[in-house]
Amino acid sequence: MVMGDLVTEVDVAVLGGGPGGYSAAFRCAELGLETVMIDAGHRLGGACLYEGCIPSKALLHVAAVLGEAERAKEFGVDFGEARISLDPMRKWKAERVVGKLARGLASVAKAKGVAVIGGRGAFEDSRSIRVGGDEPQVVRFKHAILATGSVPVMPPELAIGSDRIMDSTAALEVPDIPERMLVVGGGYIGLELGQVYAALGSRVTLVELTEGLLPGVDRDLVQPLARRCEKLFAAIHLGRKVSALKPSAGAIEAAIEGEAPQTFDRVLVAVGRRAVTESLGLEATRAALTERGFVAIDERCRTGDPHLYAIGDVTGEPMLAHRAMRQGKVAAECIAGRPCLRQRRRPRSRLHRSRGRLVRGDGGAGRPRGQGGEVFVGRLRPRRHHRTERRADQADRGRRLQPRDRCGHRRPRGGGADRRGRAGHRDRGDGRGSGRHHPRAPDAVRKPDGGRREPPPSIVPLTPPNEAEACRE
Ligand SMILES: Cc1cc2nc3c(=O)[nH]c(=O)nc-3n(C[C@H](O)[C@H](O)[C@H](O)COP(=O)(O)OP(=O)(O)OC[C@H]3O[C@@H](n4cnc5c(N)ncnc54)[C@H](O)[C@@H]3O)c2cc1C
Repeated sequence: MVMGDLVTEVDVAVLGGGPGGYSAAFRCAELGLETVMIDAGHRLGGACLYEGCIPSKALLHVAAVLGEAERAKEFGVDFGEARISLDPMRKWKAERVVGKLARGLASVAKAKGVAVIGGRGAFEDSRSIRVGGDEPQVVRFKHAILATGSVPVMPPELAIGSDRIMDSTAALEVPDIPERMLVVGGGYIGLELGQVYAALGSRVTLVELTEGLLPGVDRDLVQPLARRCEKLFAAIHLGRKVSALKPSAGAIEAAIEGEAPQTFDRVLVAVGRRAVTESLGLEATRAALTERGFVAIDERCRTGDPHLYAIGDVTGEPMLAHRAMRQGKVAAECIAGRPCLRQRRRPRSRLHRSRGRLVRGDGGAGRPRGQGGEVFVGRLRPRRHHRTERRADQADRGRRLQPRDRCGHRRPRGGGADRRGRAGHRDRGDGRGSGRHHPRAPDAVRKPDGGRREPPPSIVPLTPPNEAEACRE
């Protein structure tokens, strides 16, 4: 430490103000820990708010409105040719969508008493961070949470220094609507932004290195999206690589393996993101990196340094905001000494229904067994399932029409006992019923609303029973 340095002492310093960082800081503050957040951009929200989830969803909304207007022609409503003005669109995205959420986050930080320091931070040792920028200072902490996120990857063969080649951040600015656009990468970022530009009027060609869109996602779930993209895009090349790009007469010529060279007005490179770990002074701490350059953590987000936790994209896949937020809470609770939550190693299993098939959506369908990709796949017997659903609908409709007694219970039609021998309130003719609560049939399994529970639809496991048992969590 240099004499004259401004020194701030806190319980917890959070480095990075993205969804991971601010969730961690807010939870620390709620748990009574004095907390500061340091962000290089002096802003809360990180990649998610400024160059990720939020602006991309705003533009997808624009694309959806354009699509709806087009489809309305089918039933005779014609809004005419859409005229797109980019300046108002950018202004709406920046001020009405992103700006509003940013102001909301700033006021939450203020309300919770979390101070935000603007400037790039780097560890001096395991107990202090030096912050540069407009407010240079040293922050001394008992614990720090590293949440510096990720940035887009640009492979060297595609980085030719032309402003026609964009990463996701540049593409979200919508500099113009190119006539011909190449999207390199069929992950969710390439697909989202490809759809946006296609809806705005570009002829989009997508090239993906693997044999399918959204690598790693269950194929049954990808299918409907793939069909939609086939309609929307000019071409989709799977299992192909863009091996080189070169400037050519106000455009970019792309060499796509197995295809003749093609010319595009703009190229979006969306081939992945890498963790921000450089210039953080991690070598001055005991935190270690994995082989792929992520910060190594355990299930409680602890690094190899007892004073240092790490969360979010900087710790690896899946790089998603909701994972970062969950990890932020895990780290905060551990630091506060609470019985620790654990980060979910993979998203909670869910059953998705896809054309009569049941798949357990733990995101690992493409991965082999033993690598966290255990998947239980079953198939619904469609006839049985439809009958069950129809019966449930009928029963529900019947119940809705059934009169209620004065206790609010459904009364069998005709006032007397129903088919199962359950007695209703007998009408004494004075409108007060019998005054006796009707007994329940002992054999009936009842829902709180009085309806009978339908048997669950049967699932036929495709995996042999013993294996299926082993695959369950
Ligand atoms: C186009 C796009 C669409 C996306 N859509 C979705 C989606 O729909 N759903 C979803 O869940 N996720 C989505 N994501 C991913 C999501 O944005 C990230 O997973 C999430 O932002 C990660 O949060 P984080 O807190 O780990 O890091 P980040 O959000 O990257 O924040 C890191 C912060 O740390 C700061 N920082 C970095 N280095 C320093 C330093 N040395 N000192 C101080 N501050 C520093 C940065 O300025 C930044 O503010 C999308 C991403 C992109 C690019």
